[in-house]
Amino acid sequence: MADAFDDENENEQTYTMNEYMEKLEAEELEADLVLGGDEGKECTYPNGYMKRQAIFSCLTCVPNGSAGVCTACSLVCHDGHEMVELWTKRKFRCDCGNSKFGEVSCKLCPIKDSENADNSYNHNFKGSYCTCGRPYPDPEAEEQVEMIQCCICEDWFHENHLGLDSVNEIPRDEEDEPLYDEYICQECSLNCSFLDLYPASVWATPKQKNDTAPSGKEENSLKTGKSPYACPEQNVINSSSIHSEHETALIEKDSVHGENMEKTSDLAIPEEHSLDRASSLKCILGVDVNIKSHVLGKKMSMFLSKGWRDLLCRCRTCYEFYSGKGIDYLIDKEDSLQEYEKMAKEKREEKLQQQEGDAMKFINTLDHVRKIEIMSGINDMANELKSFMESVGTSRTITSDDVRGVFENLAKKRQRFQYAHVVVICLSGTTSSLQRRSYNCMFWAL
Ligand SMILES: [Zn+2]
Ligand SMILES: [Zn+2]
Ligand SMILES: [Zn+2]
Ligand SMILES: [Zn+2]
Ligand SMILES: [Zn+2]
Ligand SMILES: [Zn+2]
Repeated sequence: MADAFDDENENEQTYTMNEYMEKLEAEELEADLVLGGDEGKECTYPNGYMKRQAIFSCLTCVPNGSAGVCTACSLVCHDGHEMVELWTKRKFRCDCGNSKFGEVSCKLCPIKDSENADNSYNHNFKGSYCTCGRPYPDPEAEEQVEMIQCCICEDWFHENHLGLDSVNEIPRDEEDEPLYDEYICQECSLNCSFLDLYPASVWATPKQKNDTAPSGKEENSLKTGKSPYACPEQNVINSSSIHSEHETALIEKDSVHGENMEKTSDLAIPEEHSLDRASSLKCILGVDVNIKSHVLGKKMSMFLSKGWRDLLCRCRTCYEFYSGKGIDYLIDKEDSLQEYEKMAKEKREEKLQQQEGDAMKFINTLDHVRKIEIMSGINDMANELKSFMESVGTSRTITSDDVRGVFENLAKKRQRFQYAHVVVICLSGTTSSLQRRSYNCMFWAL
């Protein structure tokens, strides 16, 4: 037993001040990104099916995981309940207090339809993920394996359960940062086989195991538009065949090829997509996606390149094809996680500026003496921390004695400052009320 305790102490995580501040900031940023700038004060139900929002499942109220609630409801209506955090979900409307919740009603927005027919629920709502159906974090796993989210079904998959021969097939750079923008799981790949009609620029290039291959080879494969996922059976149309068979249908000569296609695609993307606008666009595929869309030889993990959604054709035929498959969100810029996080970052910036503004406004409401006291207090604190940090360096672990030392020094300085302050005020012959305030402060400091 004693051994167990010793081990626990040894494993106790310690942080340097820099690490601690970085960790704190990263956690705060991550939370803000998931919440998408939602303050978590009002139920989002009146906003309808939101393009994307943070969703939670309450297993205390709905143990079978067939309901989801918004951030505010998770905090106000389900405080202390067993909650599953689902990150963000698209096209979801808050269920809190509806017919799935029995006697429990919503404290923030009690009047709701009995069900939200357009919500979809997967096994994540029960707290299980991936093809293996394990919880995250998995209490029985020796090591937590990183998970990747599918941008179609929004389920999460362990990187060793993607159906790959090796996790090295996941496109990553030398620093292990993903080279892909989005991932489509094996099951959803069947619904996205039309992507094989696109040139190789939609695919993230897997990491070259041996980087000695001449770069010309890579270029060549891009030019032939061969997808790394193309099936060997050749029931796949690669873009070179589109080019030769349907040249006249192309907007520009060579437009399906890499760079040129991007340009064409940029021109073709309407700011606000509408069917009217779509009708006026020519198909950049040059083939009818309905006829030529094929069945993949097998299910496969798909890794999409950065900006791949911008390459998708927005013509009427393709638009209707996406709608028919229920994946038309792919051509809605606001659907992507990147866009959601960009918006969240902007809101966070605004919030931080507002907080700074509020602090300054508060200081400006104070009289001169208190203003000086607060400003000098902040200044002292900053100086004390600075000299402390300089004395210990950034890599040493901070102990509780260190922290006590900083505050003891600070207290001593405050006392000295109060004496000096009183003397200055007396010498300058300011009003008696100012003097009284300063004496009060001095006694408080003692
Ligand atoms: Zn709600
Ligand atoms: Zn609950
Ligand atoms: Zn609620
Ligand atoms: Zn798994
Ligand atoms: Zn999927
Ligand atoms: Zn099209």
